[in-house]
Amino acid sequence: MKLLSVFIEHAKANLDRPFTYLYLGKEEISRGCRVIVPFNHTTIMGFVDDVQDSSLTPEEVAYKYGYKINEIISVVDNKSLLSEELIKTSEEVAAYYLAPKIAVLKAMLPSSLKPSISSLRGPKVAYDTYVKLVNEDETGLTPKQLELVRFLARNGEILKKEAGSTSILKALEEKGRIAYFKKERLRYVIPNSEREEKPRQLTLEQEQAVEYIVSTDKEVTLLQGITGSGKTEVYLKLTEMMLKQNKKTLMLVPEISLTPIMVEYFSRRFGNSIAILHSGLTPAEKYDEYRRIARGEAKIVVGARSAVFAPLDNIGLIILDEEHVESYKQDQTPFYHAREVAIMRAKHFGAKVVLGSATPSLETKARAEKGVYGLAKLTRRINDKPLPPTHIIDMREKRSIDRYHSGIFTYELENEIKARLDKGEQVILLVNRRGYASVVCADCGYIHVCPSCHGNLTYHKEDDMLKCHHCGYVELYPQSCPSCGSTKIQRIGVGTERVMKVLNEIFPEAKLGRLDSDIAKARSNIPKVLQEFREHKYDILVGTQMVAKGHDFPNVTLAGLVSADQGLAMQSYRSAESTFGLIAQTVGRSGRGQVNGKAIIQTFNPMHYAIVYGAKQDYEAFYHKEMQQRKLSAYPPFYYLIAVHFSSKDEERAIQAGMEMKEYLQSVMGEELISLGPIAPYYSFLGGFHKRMVLLKSKNIAKLKDALRDINAFSSVGGVDISFDVDPLDC
Ligand code: ADP
Ligand code: ZN
Ligand code: ZN
Repeated sequence: MKLLSVFIEHAKANLDRPFTYLYLGKEEISRGCRVIVPFNHTTIMGFVDDVQDSSLTPEEVAYKYGYKINEIISVVDNKSLLSEELIKTSEEVAAYYLAPKIAVLKAMLPSSLKPSISSLRGPKVAYDTYVKLVNEDETGLTPKQLELVRFLARNGEILKKEAGSTSILKALEEKGRIAYFKKERLRYVIPNSEREEKPRQLTLEQEQAVEYIVSTDKEVTLLQGITGSGKTEVYLKLTEMMLKQNKKTLMLVPEISLTPIMVEYFSRRFGNSIAILHSGLTPAEKYDEYRRIARGEAKIVVGARSAVFAPLDNIGLIILDEEHVESYKQDQTPFYHAREVAIMRAKHFGAKVVLGSATPSLETKARAEKGVYGLAKLTRRINDKPLPPTHIIDMREKRSIDRYHSGIFTYELENEIKARLDKGEQVILLVNRRGYASVVCADCGYIHVCPSCHGNLTYHKEDDMLKCHHCGYVELYPQSCPSCGSTKIQRIGVGTERVMKVLNEIFPEAKLGRLDSDIAKARSNIPKVLQEFREHKYDILVGTQMVAKGHDFPNVTLAGLVSADQGLAMQSYRSAESTFGLIAQTVGRSGRGQVNGKAIIQTFNPMHYAIVYGAKQDYEAFYHKEMQQRKLSAYPPFYYLIAVHFSSKDEERAIQAGMEMKEYLQSVMGEELISLGPIAPYYSFLGGFHKRMVLLKSKNIAKLKDALRDINAFSSVGGVDISFDVDPLDC
């Protein structure tokens, strides 16, 4: 007989400990296998943490423990899903992020291998289900159903899992509007790209950076290189050196929209020793790639955030490109940041970590300045192409705004666009919001908010609906104001759809493309739109952040940021940093080819340091100014932050639990702690739960984490879920 220590699938702080079960069967079983277990009268999944042989009988065990120990129901895996190294990583991640261990394991594994019962329904099969529209009739549909019908009408067949809620699909199927069909799964094949003939000759700066990274005794190096300075070529060279030593490379990019380009660079150089891991793959593809990596068939893995957990062994190098981008941090439990995980894993292998960016996060830059990380710089653009001149346009100057066309553009930006169109050159326009605009009542000022999470709704013109960008709630466009009945409904703010419409009015002959997460909902649209833009099927590409990063379009000679202010208005200690980054990226998109480019920033805050330094691409000046601000206001990198989230069906209890924790921590930490809240976050009511947040700031992070680990000391209020966001980015 065996005694198993098992973590169960519920990711809750108060269940974050191993439970003991008996195993009387004969199958192979070890740490790292999944088992099905009874728990509280239900059947759930467990993850085996430890196996002990025992010569006792079940009765003797019950006697010894003082209660009956349950037997597991069945064994799911006969072999550990994770290497010892990854199990160790999971433990370190759980400890650093104060996260339930099972939550970390769930974040690490692809869906069919996750420790949860639902994973058993995951793909082992070789086909995917698609859905298509068979009847476009819109009568008798709810707004949610209508939204999907209109989406399908625009996009044709899409993967069922990308089509959203199963209940909506089911209703539409019953009404005869849609049909399912299966397509054989295309096992993931790396798009065939021609092998390059011979690698480029590195520039002197690139060579020096490579030399520095391999010879420094620092584990982590910041590769700070301005846009267009050729960071990718450095990554390729380092990877090649690793391959020669038989070591493997993990190449991370911040968003899936950037993987195709990076994959192309790597497969042109290294052929098919590459595997890809990101959320754009179907579960089946991901499962295949995951197993291929675990079998040791890939020497290089390219992927987004969760690829940091790729089951690679013998890692020599981990690279994070655009390390400052926020999407490297998961925005739910365990709230891990790929950079920290990369550093943990690199230590296990004695591997190097390279953090690449033109605008490093303040934390990373500060560590490089202090000598904790190494620093390699690329200060010149390839071929010494100058950075494009940047012009800040003051939107407060009323005469410069084209009121006739919705007041979104200044005449100057319009003229610049026109000049490019006349010359057959291309333009990128950045907008920080998707959709069309917010809506307010022109008579009483009523703002349409989401009934389920209380955030503002956004008007989406292509569906003619109001949508919540947080929870997915949709409703039909209102005929009148629900508060005063007025029919004068005003649209304010600027979203991608609205920019498209106005551009179309001003430049009816121009071909327009759009890329935002609405378009990217059908994943295959991302590489498609980018490719079409590269082939000049569009003159102007309008997009969110998604188009700002990393792409290399030689024919783009004008990049414009339609409004730099939306980012500054964000309630976050990082709002200046992200605005600076967005501007710098925007500027970097322009003038990468033969013709010199230009960049234009429209703003109501032309004197703000983030905008002034962003336009000048003066990272160092911005860094020093922002460091002063952070010091004054007690934020990272001077203080460590932990955001504690309280969630309860009862609003009072969520508040009480927050107060209780604060009092407890003050008694333990005294002067060493600053605590703010409990405050109601922007989305304060979600899925029937009230949310409250307490922000903790301290320089003594070890002591603070120890205090928080003792969760029983401050969680006497019942019916409240507590979760920790260590190093939060959005508060
Ligand atoms: P970054 O990521 O630093 O913004 P990229 O890696 O995209 O810059 O490189 C910018 C451009 O310069 C790309 O088109 C790339 O192919 C080219 N390039 C990079 N290194 C070299 C080199 N050593 N010689 C010639 N062209 C290069
Ligand atoms: Zn009104
Ligand atoms: Zn909502």
